[in-house]
Amino acid sequence: MSEKVVIIGSGIGGLGAAGLFAKKGYDVTVLEKNQNPGGRANVFEAEGFRFDMGPSWYLAPDLFEHYFSLLGEDINEHLDLERLTPSYRIFFKDDDEDVDIHSNIDVDSQTFEEIEAGAGEKLKAYLNQSEYQYKVATEHFMYKNYDTVFDFFNKRVMTEGQKLSVFSKMHSFVSRFFKTKKLQQIMEYTMVFLGTSPYEAPALYNLMSHMDFNQGVFYPKGGFYELIKALVRVAEKNGAVVRTNADVAEILVENRKATGVKLADGETISADLVISNADMWFTETQLLDNRSRTYSESYWQKRVMAPSAFIMYLGTKQKIPELIHHNLFFSRDWRKNFDDIYKDPKLPEEPSLYVCAPSVTDQGVAPDGKENLFVLVPIASGLEISDEEKDKYSEVVLKLIEEEMSIEGFREMIEYKRIYTVENFAKDYNSLRGSALGLAHNLWQTAIFRPKNQSKKVDNLFYVGAGTSPGIGTQICLISAELAYKRVHGITSPEPLKSL
Ligand SMILES: Cc1cc2nc3c(=O)[nH]c(=O)nc-3n(C[C@H](O)[C@H](O)[C@H](O)COP(=O)(O)OP(=O)(O)OC[C@H]3O[C@@H](n4cnc5c(N)ncnc54)[C@H](O)[C@@H]3O)c2cc1C
Repeated sequence: MSEKVVIIGSGIGGLGAAGLFAKKGYDVTVLEKNQNPGGRANVFEAEGFRFDMGPSWYLAPDLFEHYFSLLGEDINEHLDLERLTPSYRIFFKDDDEDVDIHSNIDVDSQTFEEIEAGAGEKLKAYLNQSEYQYKVATEHFMYKNYDTVFDFFNKRVMTEGQKLSVFSKMHSFVSRFFKTKKLQQIMEYTMVFLGTSPYEAPALYNLMSHMDFNQGVFYPKGGFYELIKALVRVAEKNGAVVRTNADVAEILVENRKATGVKLADGETISADLVISNADMWFTETQLLDNRSRTYSESYWQKRVMAPSAFIMYLGTKQKIPELIHHNLFFSRDWRKNFDDIYKDPKLPEEPSLYVCAPSVTDQGVAPDGKENLFVLVPIASGLEISDEEKDKYSEVVLKLIEEEMSIEGFREMIEYKRIYTVENFAKDYNSLRGSALGLAHNLWQTAIFRPKNQSKKVDNLFYVGAGTSPGIGTQICLISAELAYKRVHGITSPEPLKSL
């Protein structure tokens, strides 16, 4: 009889693990407390609009391809990916010169040159380095489980670390190349994807620029949720069972060994292996008793959480030609904006923000002649916001978009609005302090310093998802699934698996 694996949570890490273990022949059951599988990559429909609730940037297509190939699948048979041109537009506070990034080195270096003399060539040098770092990271670092400090700081890391600028901060690294604030902001904004600030993130993460500038930005036709449907499909094809509305209340432990789980309605399910994709803080402090915890409550209280978000899902009465698919707005005082998130938490008065308009590319996500908009303002996790404050802040943000993106009468165009913020993340995903992304990626919460994917106290209990290694991001969570698979099977090679 095949070994039974129970996976708590159907986020991308959980579904990713389900596919790998099911393909290998395990008897896999995924238990998801919510109505939909997909975790933070959720979806909902209202008044003819279909809103992707979380991720919208499909980056690093090679990493998704790799995962699907391990299951013997061609991702292009599951997703209709469109490369966006331009990739994204950036609006700057009190500056009429917005910038389009095309992910085409000739066009983008010309744009950079026009903003800062000499920056065109510097962009090429910068992106060469990002590409090198991406290659080394994906071929030698990201697909490896680290156990000890010595394991991580081996000769290769020390040598590459110098080249990769692992130990300097992102902002000082970027400043070596670009002098104008505008270009620095363009190269640094991706740190928000990692839940950190350019003043804290290790410069290693400039590999992110390889993704958006060199590889390009993609969109799965039909919406990002198509990825979730594909992950469920391939896991089920290999025999996994995905159960929704199944809220796990306890991990059962006997003689320091995980033996199954108990659901909130009292049902028990036995297992040989338990893999939790629920946020690690929640798994450790709410699903295990004191003796079974690797990380105590005080450990979590000292962690830096990634920001939460003030999100608005908007449906408009008409098309908005001023917007492209991805639109970013950067505030004037960059550092203060990050301080409002990390140092002195409050709703930022002049926030940076993001507006996604998938209906520009795909009218299928909104009724004809209308726009589907996702507005995201990164805000501090843990903020308590009353309904009145939400309404007021929503007006501040909509006015900012109207003025800075030059959309006359924008506020009157809105026919549907739903606000989603800190308390929703906490409730829907059992997220510590309502963080949107989980544990931030500062140097001390990266690689060897991130919580491990195996319990030290309970045998046969493993972790997968953004809270463990490598960390945040849709494709990165698929790597975490591969790391959990490697951990269970004692595979120590640093390279991506070639087969299961
Ligand atoms: C607003 C937003 C925008 C983002 N944008 C991007 C982007 O553009 N590109 C990108 O690559 N990434 C993006 N991300 C990040 C990315 O979506 C996440 O890092 C990734 O989806 C997290 O996956 P995960 O495996 O950690 O699982 P999660 O998504 O955290 O899912 C965990 C699951 O566990 C379930 N669970 C929790 N407790 C229990 C329980 N007791 N019983 C049963 N189930 C339980 C939860 O309901 C949830 O479904 C974004 C995230 C957010 C929130």
